[in-house]
Amino acid sequence: MAGRPIGDSDPDPWKGRYAARTAGLSASEVRALFAVASRPEVVSLAGGMPFVSALPTELVTGSVDRVLRERGPVALQYGSGQGDPTLREQILEVMALEGIRGRAADVVVTTGSQHALELLAKLFLDPGDVVLAEGPSYVTALVVFRSFQADVSHVLMDEHGLVPDALRERIAALAAAGRVPKLLYTVPTFNNPAGVTLSADRRREILQIARENGILVIEDNPYGLLYFGSPPPDALRSIDDGIVYLGTFSKTLAPGLRVGWALAPSDIRDKLILANEAAVLSPSSFTQLVVSEYLDTADWRAQIATFRGVYEARRDALLAALAEFLPDLHWTIPDGGFYVWLTLPEALDASAMLPRAVADLVAYTPGSAFFADGNGRNNIRLSFSYPTPEFIREGIRRLASVIDAEKAA
Ligand code: PMP
Repeated sequence: MAGRPIGDSDPDPWKGRYAARTAGLSASEVRALFAVASRPEVVSLAGGMPFVSALPTELVTGSVDRVLRERGPVALQYGSGQGDPTLREQILEVMALEGIRGRAADVVVTTGSQHALELLAKLFLDPGDVVLAEGPSYVTALVVFRSFQADVSHVLMDEHGLVPDALRERIAALAAAGRVPKLLYTVPTFNNPAGVTLSADRRREILQIARENGILVIEDNPYGLLYFGSPPPDALRSIDDGIVYLGTFSKTLAPGLRVGWALAPSDIRDKLILANEAAVLSPSSFTQLVVSEYLDTADWRAQIATFRGVYEARRDALLAALAEFLPDLHWTIPDGGFYVWLTLPEALDASAMLPRAVADLVAYTPGSAFFADGNGRNNIRLSFSYPTPEFIREGIRRLASVIDAEKAA
């Protein structure tokens, strides 16, 4: 081996030495797709990338400039493991838009909400623990739960979100098998990947069921402010302050800043801060101050309204294209967020069809990526956040001909 660089094609010399938990860390189908789907000739309806070009650059450069000039020594220094106190106060204003009342003392700033998920999994999950989650569920949450060797048990979701009776039945079935779920992970508003929203009535019912069964609810809400008509029902956390709420600036500002947060009951908050310190010492002082400055000086509510307008036009383009090119199929109709969930004819396998789609210059995410149990074989997640309306129409035109060819094969 000496003198020879170790390339990708060589067998991994450390195979057999990795921790057992890494067995859950296979590259997701979504990740593998990014490489091909990022070629400009491919219409990618695959990744859920925010359209950051709708954010005027000068709004951000102004904040960056002022932070460095006026607060450089703080911005470039380590900070608190809980996050900047001023930013935590401002985060309360953001959450108030969804009916949430909380204390800045209970907010923990994290490196995106993804990191909050990782920290919560670390705090709560032992190997073999059960996590309840919608079927389908956010793919990278599944990756996190799997990497802590938890078992994800999916609960039926329909166009009004998680089905309360299905949740009750699942808890009872698990109890009969001697298993008690620890967590319910949910994206109740403009669900990723299904696009559906939990109705107001069901919100109370789901929380009630979780409370009765001693299950901690994690409400992951990156999309709630990106509604297209009237606002969605208030967040679960507005009804029950015993749950953990996750928020982020990734979709309302920019994901590159990597600023998200958890709002948690005080005991969990204390542990989250310790886990945050163990992982990163402190979240980035620099990007936290940039977000804080932005919230202080920019009309951030108007900017969110701009994002809403952009995404609504794209949602409309996608729904119109589906009606035009794939009128016989079924799809969800999102009132906000980034995603539509499409159901293919029973006989088709969305993963098997993907190479043909990419060859025909359209990419999507196969539904099976969003299930821990192999379900979703004939489903597709379509993301409308990034391509222009014209590209979206062209993408669906291509997809329709791929589906036709696949049916004929
Ligand atoms: N949860 C959900 C449901 C998401 O869709 C995403 C981003 N795609 C995240 C969490 C992570 O967001 P971030 O880490 O950028 O805050």
